[in-house]
Amino acid sequence: MGDRERNKKRLLELLQATGTGNGYCADCGAADPDWASYKLGVFICLHCSGVHRNFPDVSKVKSVRLDFWDDSMVEFMTHNGNLNMKAKFEARVPPFYYVPQASDCLVLKEQWIRAKYERQEFLADEKAVSLQGDREVFLWKRGRDNAQFLRRRFVLLAREGLLKYYTKEEGKTPKAVINIKDLNATFQTEKIGHPHGLQITYRKDGRTRNLFVYHDSGKEIVDWFNALRAARLQYLKLAFPDLPESELVPLITRNYLKQGFMEKTGPKQKEPFKKRWFALDALERRLLYYKNTLDAFEQGQVLLGSNEQGYEVCEDLPKGVRGNRWKAGLTVITPERKFVFTCPSEKEQREWLESLRDVLSSPLSPLYLLNASAESGLR
Ligand SMILES: [Zn+2]
Repeated sequence: MGDRERNKKRLLELLQATGTGNGYCADCGAADPDWASYKLGVFICLHCSGVHRNFPDVSKVKSVRLDFWDDSMVEFMTHNGNLNMKAKFEARVPPFYYVPQASDCLVLKEQWIRAKYERQEFLADEKAVSLQGDREVFLWKRGRDNAQFLRRRFVLLAREGLLKYYTKEEGKTPKAVINIKDLNATFQTEKIGHPHGLQITYRKDGRTRNLFVYHDSGKEIVDWFNALRAARLQYLKLAFPDLPESELVPLITRNYLKQGFMEKTGPKQKEPFKKRWFALDALERRLLYYKNTLDAFEQGQVLLGSNEQGYEVCEDLPKGVRGNRWKAGLTVITPERKFVFTCPSEKEQREWLESLRDVLSSPLSPLYLLNASAESGLR
């Protein structure tokens, strides 16, 4: 066996070796990475290797299977590896900091990778970069009633638990004052049509208000997102003093469990089916629907209790009900009524069924219970 083959075999064994963490991308957790940074000593996936290529002073990448590896490089990978390097470069990641997964958008992964290796923000002896506290930023915000993005000033008052935004640069009166308590933020790059597109939601008059924003700089928008998360964690600690931090972290911000188009009929199930955009918020247990994907408010919602409370979802449509163009259907049964939907494909139908079943079978979260009691108190 030549050097080339021998070294490739050693690397492939290294990927499988237990206790190394090498079986998952060091940056996004994707399974079976087959690229590596031979300057940093980590195994990474193809997508993350693309980010590493952007800062060659810090990282240099090779394909495990396709490129040539000499003995010293293989030696270096053996000595380092994903778990060892994680201990070094992720020694002090703040609890509120969003650590992206394979399914997350590129800007989140890119900024995480840059923060870790290029800016080295999380080393043990590094003074932590502060994203906590008050912060001000100018963001491009989509107009409520037209598709134009306009520059708006956003001010986060972390200690007061408020987010304000202003339409005039020097304006004194905010256009909106948003309570951190009901705030969520989620990157929605496809829907917004911008690689840094962020959706911010909050509760207003019993409905969910959506703001769609972006910043031209990937670093600025991700820092802003993590600053919102820091303020949210601070709020959650006050609201739930008895819960450990590990139980609060999943409540900081949330992505939709599933989004997509379905068609729905009305309560009599005889009304014509209409195409709507649906978004499933698992934590708040709401299936929201919109006329258009970027509407400021939902047109309606289905509140999702639990199986114990008599909520169910079943495959197919009730007898005698026929969809419009789409045949694959599902029915959400609540104590009050049946909601009938059709999906554009059987794959979509399966995914909706799975996601809705997930929500209905999961216990009511402490945040849901707190918000639900606050809202019923207002009525
Ligand atoms: Zn990756």
